[in-house]
Amino acid sequence: MTPTQFFPTLNGVMHAERVPLPQLAAQFGTPLYVYSKAALVAAWENYQGGLVNRNALVCYAMKTNSNLAILRLFGELGSGFDIVSGGELLRVIAAGCDPKKAVFSGVGKSAEEIRLALTHDVLCFNVESESELLRISEVATAMNKSARVSLRVNPNVDAKTHPYISTGLKENKFGVEYESALDLYKRAASLPHIEVAGIDCHIGSQLTEIRPYLDALDKVLDLVDALAKHGIKLHHLDLGGGLGIRYDKEEPPAAADLLAQLFARIESRGYGALKVLFEPGRSLVGNAGVLLTKVEYLKHNADKNFAIVDAAMNDLMRPALYDAWHGIDAVRPRSGVPTTYDIVGPVCESGDWLGKNRALKLEQGDLLAVLSAGSYAMAMSSNYNTRTRAAEVMVDGDAVYLVRERERVQDLFALERVPQNLAG
Ligand SMILES: *Cc1c(COP(=O)(O)O)cnc(C)c1O
Repeated sequence: MTPTQFFPTLNGVMHAERVPLPQLAAQFGTPLYVYSKAALVAAWENYQGGLVNRNALVCYAMKTNSNLAILRLFGELGSGFDIVSGGELLRVIAAGCDPKKAVFSGVGKSAEEIRLALTHDVLCFNVESESELLRISEVATAMNKSARVSLRVNPNVDAKTHPYISTGLKENKFGVEYESALDLYKRAASLPHIEVAGIDCHIGSQLTEIRPYLDALDKVLDLVDALAKHGIKLHHLDLGGGLGIRYDKEEPPAAADLLAQLFARIESRGYGALKVLFEPGRSLVGNAGVLLTKVEYLKHNADKNFAIVDAAMNDLMRPALYDAWHGIDAVRPRSGVPTTYDIVGPVCESGDWLGKNRALKLEQGDLLAVLSAGSYAMAMSSNYNTRTRAAEVMVDGDAVYLVRERERVQDLFALERVPQNLAG
């Protein structure tokens, strides 16, 4: 899926499906996140294409975009969820989706979160350390419930992605060290109220090659072999998420191709009957969204031109955080000679930029669309500089749904309290 596949330019105006983006800007204001439902469904179907007649479950990694409407859509399509906090579990429930299809990942699950997850009977805990395993056993014992667990093993393979989104190397905080996984499984099998259900790995994000997946899979299956020898039989294999998307010129494999190769390897090693879980995030939503923003000012310095727009690093943090590149297109492209601009926001940080050295022909008041803004975008937004978070809309053909209202400034300080006589 390309960044503009579901955001076509028709008669010189960029649309979301069949709705002109200027109409959405006029109706809801900017900055505005705009999602295409058809793009979400298409991304979902790309996975399903690789899962025909397979015993598999896609668990949408909802941290990438946890808007309730998006959860509901994926839930209705049959998705499970990969959650990383108690808050995310409550979102699954609030969206009317099934918590029994949720797997609980993350290195720091609190006792309270574990209790919540057991109350709602989540499918599995992806356990990341021995101390966490012991805590889950304690909480489950106190509740007289059985907790299904997988160990998230760290296969020590290089996902060949940005260091901040690489998770499967020894130096990363994630997962159980490969060498100690077997012992920890034996321990798990002996603990009260723990049911060993599966094995899990997730090696990183924005992966554009199949090779690291296969390397990790082989190491995971070596462990499955070893576990079988010790009489520990698993119910499922969880291969995590991480499939990349096209931001610029990347050419990630199609989901169906990746799945075909993974299943071929699983079968060749004799585990064709094992259920397989996947936890994709970015590849289900990344190119289903754009961030719509307005040019407030153009500023021409001696050797730099700036387009100062009304979206900022608090709305879209990826450029500041990862040096990430997003396509930025004019909503109504102008003819004429373009100027090279840095596209920056109003926040008081030099790191507040959305794109650098972009050739655009612009005038004050123009609308820009920051592309590939469906994942790790709104979900990572903040209120820095007391900026209200953007509204979100979902477009379906020519129908438009407001799926999150723009925040109001007074709500941002509503929880703050000023003690009396502070200076007295
Ligand atoms: C973030 C995350 C994912 C999703 O990663 P994507 O790159 O967005 O597909 C899956 N599993 C776990 C455990 C994660 O932390």
